[in-house]
Amino acid sequence: MKLIKRIILLGFFFILTSCQGQLAEKNNSLLTKQNQVDHSNYRKLTPEEEKVIVHKGTEYPGTGKYNNFKEPGIYGCKRCNTPLFSSKNKFNSGCGWPSFDDAISDNVKEILDADGRRIEIVCKNCGGHLGHVFRGEQFTPKNTRHCVNSISLVFEKEKDIKTDTAVFASGCFWGTEYFLQQMGGIIDTKPGYIGGKVDNPTYQEVCTGITGHAEAVRVIFNPDSVSYEDLAKIYFETHDPTQVNRQGPDIGTQYRSEIFYFDDEQKRIANDLINQLQNDGLNVATKVTKASTFWVAEEYHQDYYIKSGKHPYCHRYVKRF
Ligand SMILES: [Zn+2]
Repeated sequence: MKLIKRIILLGFFFILTSCQGQLAEKNNSLLTKQNQVDHSNYRKLTPEEEKVIVHKGTEYPGTGKYNNFKEPGIYGCKRCNTPLFSSKNKFNSGCGWPSFDDAISDNVKEILDADGRRIEIVCKNCGGHLGHVFRGEQFTPKNTRHCVNSISLVFEKEKDIKTDTAVFASGCFWGTEYFLQQMGGIIDTKPGYIGGKVDNPTYQEVCTGITGHAEAVRVIFNPDSVSYEDLAKIYFETHDPTQVNRQGPDIGTQYRSEIFYFDDEQKRIANDLINQLQNDGLNVATKVTKASTFWVAEEYHQDYYIKSGKHPYCHRYVKRF
């Protein structure tokens, strides 16, 4: 009975997806939003890749490079390299496209498809089309199938993946996270608190200024995809580093501009960039401090602008380098 149910489901799925390629191109809010970071580091797409990733087409079932591919590693976005799926969540659904029952760290965004029924999935960072997500089919215990075009993905073998960590404070951490999330090569971002005197502070405690923490964002990134210097440049280009203990309307020591470094190389890069800005006439107030314990902020502060669909009120992109 279970097999019959699955065959029926599969048949239904093919009918649903057969018209996928004819769907009209939709406006992509991620690509048209204000405050856009320079995206010149996006990979140049072939016409075939563009058909799927930009114009939301579908590759023919059973033909994709990763359909029957089983190596351990991470599948990233073909256009911007953001890590999207892990081989640990890949399963064989028999549908003809790579299937994953989970995505990496909310890096896959779900939107209602133009057909008004299915849920389209796109790369959270660049808005590139990936495929669709289906729930309730009971393929795996997670009961979820991210059905993804191989051509939207780029695979990186597990052993090749390096990670590094950076922490930046630049006023309200919602805005700091918003811009850092838009960089390729980001594995995870978390708003939180650092540089204060008490353990595990709450948002309310930090807001009093008494604990001495700064609102900051911890970034886990792949240094083969994005350099610490690139991240630090975006950091300086998306807030006003001349303001002391404030950022726009947010006033208090918790809104100070500060880089928390993890090694001498990060410290050197931070100080070099500050020197460059000072040579350009900016009176930079940014402190450079050895990282102490980072306390992840409350859940409602995570991915704030992605969840709310709003734009930062006190951060904007200004080219400085
Ligand atoms: Zn992308």
